Amino acid sequence: MLTTNPFDPNGLDGDKLREECGVFGIWGVDNAAGFVTLGLHALQHRGQEAAGITSYDAGQFHSHRAMGHVAGNFDRDDVIRMLAGRAAIGHVRYSTAGGPGIRNAQPLFAELAEGGFAIGQNGNLSNAMKLRRTLNRQGSIFQSTSDTEVIIHLVATSERSNMLDRLTDALKQVEGAYSLVVLTPEGLIACRDPLGFRPLVMGKLGEATIFASETVALDVVGARYLRDVEPGELVLVNDDGIRSFSPFEKVAPRPCIFEHIYFSRPDSIADGMSVYEVRKSIGAELARESPVDVDYVVPVPDSGVPAAIGYAQASGIPFELGIIRSHYVGRTFIQPSHDGRLQGVKLKHNANSALIDGKSIVLIDDSIVRGTTSVKLVQMMRDAGAREVHMRIASPPTRHCCFYGVDTPERAKLLAAQMNVDQMRDYINADSLAFISIEGLYRALGEERDPAQPQRCDACFTGAYPTVLTDLNEKDGGSSLSLVASR
Ligand code: SF4
Repeated sequence: MLTTNPFDPNGLDGDKLREECGVFGIWGVDNAAGFVTLGLHALQHRGQEAAGITSYDAGQFHSHRAMGHVAGNFDRDDVIRMLAGRAAIGHVRYSTAGGPGIRNAQPLFAELAEGGFAIGQNGNLSNAMKLRRTLNRQGSIFQSTSDTEVIIHLVATSERSNMLDRLTDALKQVEGAYSLVVLTPEGLIACRDPLGFRPLVMGKLGEATIFASETVALDVVGARYLRDVEPGELVLVNDDGIRSFSPFEKVAPRPCIFEHIYFSRPDSIADGMSVYEVRKSIGAELARESPVDVDYVVPVPDSGVPAAIGYAQASGIPFELGIIRSHYVGRTFIQPSHDGRLQGVKLKHNANSALIDGKSIVLIDDSIVRGTTSVKLVQMMRDAGAREVHMRIASPPTRHCCFYGVDTPERAKLLAAQMNVDQMRDYINADSLAFISIEGLYRALGEERDPAQPQRCDACFTGAYPTVLTDLNEKDGGSSLSLVASR
């Protein structure tokens, strides 16, 4: 049976798919690590478990990794002074609670025969376990359980002569999602897998070149957005300039559609589109597909806000803040009370009762994963006196797991994998429930979905995975080790 935990320390955020990771790299500026720190601050939403920075200075690599947020760990003079150099890469990471800690924090670093090699990855390899078993048999000794380390061992065992070719050689053996920043004595390398699952953008700050998961990280350091790193492209930056390589067989890209729904920050530009505007368009499509006659459109803060604005504008129904979020409640503050009266969710999010009482509302959220959040939300609105509580979701039902760098619960815990929409409506106790259609979602992006060859990865809604899932398919035949996604 699906149950809810009233003491969930994440409040309403506890029932989300968890992005992944964020990466940032810079070449050609004094105090490079200081810029990386700022960039990682802007990417903090992509991973809050651990952060790390590796810099390169006159033949020496310097590295610092820490559990927790960027703030407090990296915005310290002693740390930044230690990370000397005009080139650096950084990483923020998320993994499931209780997973291995600092040894999987990135950037990972190894002294190879040709020199140091530091790597930060956003994404998840779908054949990492198979490759690791082979490497293990050949004598490789792994220091972490991260899939990213597989790339290091493949680079180390490549017979090509320079780092770029060795990395290319390694990447030709992996499957799945990777947006990488790699720091070597030969330069800073950024690359994106041929399907372009995860974003990676390129910018300029004076003479310096920057790569980042999202444009917000360029904004925060005052850099100018140049372009996206193309799917299947490797870009090498060093003091000789910028060179681009396309060593992989060309395939139609399949960028993750969920970046537009939830993962990316709304003030980012993704695939050349404003994430904020796309989310508003999704809300407008949702209003056209699933109208409802209510007093107010109420967003689930914060991620439901742009779609709710779009829904309100398209429907003409007033947009109102019916749920107020406290930004001052930390994870550690909320503790279960012994008598059960202290409900964590109310500490972080509270109903605006004066507004809601006696009114009919439509709640707009970005997604339903386990459904635990939706149950709490609807009850919170009813407790505040709402006459009718309808729910509209700015994504199709999430019915499948992600294997490309997003932490999804096992399929049995995905509400939409267990119930149809009517059953879900009853489960969350809403007066009505509707999701945007997959076609409507593509329309909001200005596209028409090609069912034979979708333009994006939408596998968590459709089950149409763009790659073979080697590790999943071979699960019963290999080791019991479960690799931690790099994300
Ligand atoms: Fe994105 Fe879903 Fe595809 Fe994962 S399965 S890459 S979350 S669209």
